[in-house]
Amino acid sequence: MLIAEDGTEKLVTAALAQRGSKYWCPGCHRPVRLKRGAVMCAHFAHQANQVCTTFSEGETAEHLLGKQQLAAWFAASGYTVRLEARLPEIHQRPDILVRKDGQLPLALEFQCSPISVEKLRQRTQGYRDHGYRVLWLLGSPYQHQLRLNAKALKFLQHYAPWGCFLVYWLTAVNGGELLLNLTTVDGERLNYQVQAWQAAQVPVSAILNLKPQLSPPRKTATQFVTFQQRLVLGRLRHQPAVVSLQTYCYQHGGSLAQLPNWVFMTTAKVPILKTAYLSWMVYLLMALRTAPANLSQQRLQTLIWQTLLPCVAQQPCLLDPNRLQAQLVAAAISELRAAKVISRQGRDWQVEADQLAWRAH
Ligand SMILES: [Zn+2]
Repeated sequence: MLIAEDGTEKLVTAALAQRGSKYWCPGCHRPVRLKRGAVMCAHFAHQANQVCTTFSEGETAEHLLGKQQLAAWFAASGYTVRLEARLPEIHQRPDILVRKDGQLPLALEFQCSPISVEKLRQRTQGYRDHGYRVLWLLGSPYQHQLRLNAKALKFLQHYAPWGCFLVYWLTAVNGGELLLNLTTVDGERLNYQVQAWQAAQVPVSAILNLKPQLSPPRKTATQFVTFQQRLVLGRLRHQPAVVSLQTYCYQHGGSLAQLPNWVFMTTAKVPILKTAYLSWMVYLLMALRTAPANLSQQRLQTLIWQTLLPCVAQQPCLLDPNRLQAQLVAAAISELRAAKVISRQGRDWQVEADQLAWRAH
């Protein structure tokens, strides 16, 4: 922890604390010691064996340093900054709370340790329910290759000018990295654009007001579609979800190799599913087979939603997951139409049975 109380119950940051003075934990009010060494930046620590429910002692050097860097960056950018501020109304203590006139207060969480989706949901919702915005910045444990089920993806947020995004804070350079316009293609690492900056050179407002040029979603060139499909199947084949998809196909009288072309995605999509997009499309294929040949717009939409929802990942940081899902449903309708799986019949849709058949071996 970076903050403690002195003998007059005033909060003191570790960097400004006096060696030899006495300090107390603002959470449990037990005495804490000032630590200043070569490895960790100045901080306070409880005495050994003392259990404090407010401040865990598992803070890494990275977490302590990152909090300080972020606090300094926001302060230098004209924000009022409180480190480890207690928010009694929600029993939460964000790493840093920043305020600026005319804006909702913003809680910054620099996450360097594991956190469950449920805990992430509770904390994010707690802030939002009480009029705080929250931004999760990820530390080095989350900097692995970004695949669809990477641990970092539960922090996914969405903002129209940036698309789906994640923010990293890199203490080694005292700067940030915004991974924006995140999209997925089955069987590949995620695609994204990167905007990197250093705290000393770029103020907070320049990042928040960033309106980068978003590259259009990647598309598979028509001549490579079949190649792409084999590649996707090859790469996905050993994933448990796809093994069960194979079983699902058998139960319906076919196999993965006999799927019609249109179930394979040819355009990159937002990474909000927990499964390959292929799974969703296979469920949709089977749902269309048992549906009437003539569907109202409403009925078609409902059917697509019903196949989508079981595939959606938990995304506690998204403000409006429903909107992204609705966009996927709309895109699915236009892709089904382009693939001639459905065609307009007056105001309704006609389902083309030919497009729902298993392909011959
Ligand atoms: Zn304590």
